[in-house]
Amino acid sequence: MFAEKMVELGSKRSTIREIFEFGNKRAAQVGRENIFDFSLGNPNVPAPRSVSDTIVKLVGEKDAAALHGYTSAQGDAAVRTRIAESINQVHGTHFTGDNLYMTVGAAASLCVCFKALAEEGDEFLVFAPYFPEYKVFIEGTGARFRAVPADMDSFQINFAAFEELLGPKTKAVVVNSPNNPSGVVYSEETILRLTKLLRERSQEYGHPIYLISDEPYREIAFDGVKVPYLTKYYDNTFVCYSYSKSLSMPGERIGYVLVPDEMEDAKAAYAAVCGAGRVLGYVCAPALFQQVVASCAGETSDIEVYRRNRDLLYNALVEMGYFCVKPEGAFYLFPRSLEPDAYAFCEKAKSLDLLLVPGDDFDCPGHVRIAYCVQTEMIERSLTAFKKLAEMYR
Ligand code: PLP
Repeated sequence: MFAEKMVELGSKRSTIREIFEFGNKRAAQVGRENIFDFSLGNPNVPAPRSVSDTIVKLVGEKDAAALHGYTSAQGDAAVRTRIAESINQVHGTHFTGDNLYMTVGAAASLCVCFKALAEEGDEFLVFAPYFPEYKVFIEGTGARFRAVPADMDSFQINFAAFEELLGPKTKAVVVNSPNNPSGVVYSEETILRLTKLLRERSQEYGHPIYLISDEPYREIAFDGVKVPYLTKYYDNTFVCYSYSKSLSMPGERIGYVLVPDEMEDAKAAYAAVCGAGRVLGYVCAPALFQQVVASCAGETSDIEVYRRNRDLLYNALVEMGYFCVKPEGAFYLFPRSLEPDAYAFCEKAKSLDLLLVPGDDFDCPGHVRIAYCVQTEMIERSLTAFKKLAEMYR
């Protein structure tokens, strides 16, 4: 009667959501201050003041019918031009509004790209650990999802495993840097090696292998680390961007897909993005927030808060004996669990009201994700629980 797969997907809550709901229940029982909830990647740093000021200004000054009306399917032309200018300023590129398609966040940007590319028999490769929704989005197109096992020592790319999985059926490869859940930024060396390999294999197989750069955390990078802008390294790159994290407005659902002119058959690629947007109903992204992000282009919320949180938590955990690759961006730590079964480890943590997410959810067992986009003061209070947890394994 209904599409079985959709019923299945809609009936299951993600582990992250389960843990978050558990936290809310426990908070009602023992008080919010006694729960250390590190489950959700919901930015705790508020959007910059300019966001609310812009909203007030737009609502006060603009004609309401125009402000809240439909824009063109790919987004308002002036908005796209302003965003392209801002990207060019930061990255020294030369995009125009015609390279951009406005969407409702990175999730929609990804779905649009997958839909624009997927043909029967195609495979999409992602690198573990990865954002779990990739699998749902890719399989939703009918294409095959394939995960490249992680390089557990660095969380850069495991090239030996990647080379084995890369084949004539590979349509595209997804990269996410800064990464959720590891917080790792792919180095320029990694990107050069990746793009060289993709060029070689594209030539060998006689068709392009696309790169899809999922970058909602682009601006959340610390200590001046370089986050390579992938269109400069590889022509056949789609950029999936979102303002959810950089401007702390995940609930407003706004982002874009960027299709560079250098892409092979770029006009057809952009048309395919528009077509996919149409099929999926992702047309005319929220009009008010298109104007807001154009007006606040280039700004971010206070990233320094995440850097302070990272330092506080990373240094404390390492001192307690946890092993963790030091993250250079996003707002996640991904330490090893203190027993091989991360679920069992998270259950022990839960008994201390410490809510962590098992790495299995990101296809990386033996690890846990700690989302530190929380009040610094909660991290300080949680350290006793992390210490008690470590002591359980002594
Ligand atoms: N990609 C990654 C790696 C994410 O972590 C998220 C959200 O957490 C998304 C995509 C989806 O972002 P958006 O809220 O902009 O749809």
